[in-house]
Amino acid sequence: MQSDLNNESKKFPFGDLGVYLQNPIFKVLAEIASQTKTEAYVIGGFVRDIFLQRPSKDIDVVVLGNGIGFAEKVGEKLRTKVAIFKSFGTAMLKYNDLEIEFVGARKESYRSNSRKPIVENGTLADDQQRRDFTINAFAISLNPSNYGELLDPFNGIADLEKQLIRTPLDPLITFSDDPLRMMRAIRFATQLNFSIDEEALNAIKSQKERISIVSKERITDELNKIILSKKPSIGFNYLFDTGLLHLIFPQMANLFGVDIIKGRAHKDNFYHTLQVLDNICETTEDLWLRWAAILHDIAKPATKRFEEGHGWTFHGHEDRGARMVPQIFSYLKLPLNEKMKFVQKLVQLHLRPIVLAQEQVTDSAVRRLLFEAGEEIEALMLLCNADITTKNEYKVKKYRNNFELVKQKLKDVEERDQLRNWQPPIGGNDIMEAFGLTAGKEVGILKNAIREAILEGEIPNNYESAFNFMLEKAKQLGLNQVSK
Ligand code: ATP
Repeated sequence: MQSDLNNESKKFPFGDLGVYLQNPIFKVLAEIASQTKTEAYVIGGFVRDIFLQRPSKDIDVVVLGNGIGFAEKVGEKLRTKVAIFKSFGTAMLKYNDLEIEFVGARKESYRSNSRKPIVENGTLADDQQRRDFTINAFAISLNPSNYGELLDPFNGIADLEKQLIRTPLDPLITFSDDPLRMMRAIRFATQLNFSIDEEALNAIKSQKERISIVSKERITDELNKIILSKKPSIGFNYLFDTGLLHLIFPQMANLFGVDIIKGRAHKDNFYHTLQVLDNICETTEDLWLRWAAILHDIAKPATKRFEEGHGWTFHGHEDRGARMVPQIFSYLKLPLNEKMKFVQKLVQLHLRPIVLAQEQVTDSAVRRLLFEAGEEIEALMLLCNADITTKNEYKVKKYRNNFELVKQKLKDVEERDQLRNWQPPIGGNDIMEAFGLTAGKEVGILKNAIREAILEGEIPNNYESAFNFMLEKAKQLGLNQVSK
């Protein structure tokens, strides 16, 4: 067998392909291709990622013939298990930390009501044509006659150089056939910081309604990948400009726009939100904290008022926004679990640290914030810091300085009072026992009073002080302590 596995002279515009083909797995694949006289190619994302120097663990192998049979031969050789997915005509095996998927070359045709194609056997060219983007259609030969050769029928290399997302075929057909590709185009553009080719962009605009045949779960999966990118605003701008955002996430599209009354304008909450999102991405990889940034002002359109003498106000947008979180999570098929609760809590509290920073930073206000934010206090502070987007240098400086003060105070109070995950030293059971009560209104009143007194700094945070305070309060309610 002709093999140039060690041929490092083959240079490509972005990195050296030879280095990647040195993994022994390629030698095994090439041997099976040669023995069985079956053409085989490494295809798609793995090849793209070689050029982008993003090492990837998923290798797709396309064979001209029976993909499952080929995988079984490779499995025998490696003495490893092969997972077979008969209905998809694919097989998968693991080799060290790599996952290798095998499939026969395909030709696809589509019906208008489904993004699932009718599939038949095809040539390598057919298989490359069914790929979504030119940079996802590369193939590298594993065959004796041209081992290691790059097959790039749509000039994907030029698109990599131009940093362009372009479809191999007419984009109108590509996107109409499988509308998920519109989301994928925007996702790749965001992840790679590429542009979308103009014709493709126009095609997304005209085919956007086709997104309705894609499941919410898949759309949200792409949306999350956009959000997890370094600069998600790239994707959201594309989503907005193409009109897709209005269809998949109308509540966010609603943030767009500026109203002017009596010469007074409010800021555009869509672009403000994008700025906050990009800002927070510099400090966290956490998807849910990024979601909190997206949703922090989501209720501004619903709470917007113009008040004479005041200008624009958005009173209560944090409460209303927090109430919208479960609805939006449910609409987007995001998990309705503690992640949602986390986002909801941050939306609810997002104004608090900044209000604190603008006013006098009292111990009791800080204590209250710590009590309410609990474990989420750091995340909340990151969100609030990201929320400072004013262009006014003076204001930025002032807010940031005050913010540092709040942070310092938070640290002091936390060290002293240990309020994170705090429970008052006297609970409902203690109260019932002390006064021979059953669960009821009085127990709630006393519990609240004790908590408030500690948070306000009226009494120290310990059992004895709380007990004495409770006795005082109980007297006012006409309750008598029962003797033990
Ligand atoms: P990522 O791993 O970041 O999701 P990827 O492109 O590497 O991206 P897959 O989504 O698994 O990984 O896709 C593998 C390959 O399959 C792609 O590179 C592309 O060639 C092809 N592909 C995937 N989805 C589609 C689609 N909807 N339409 C056409 N081709 C697709």
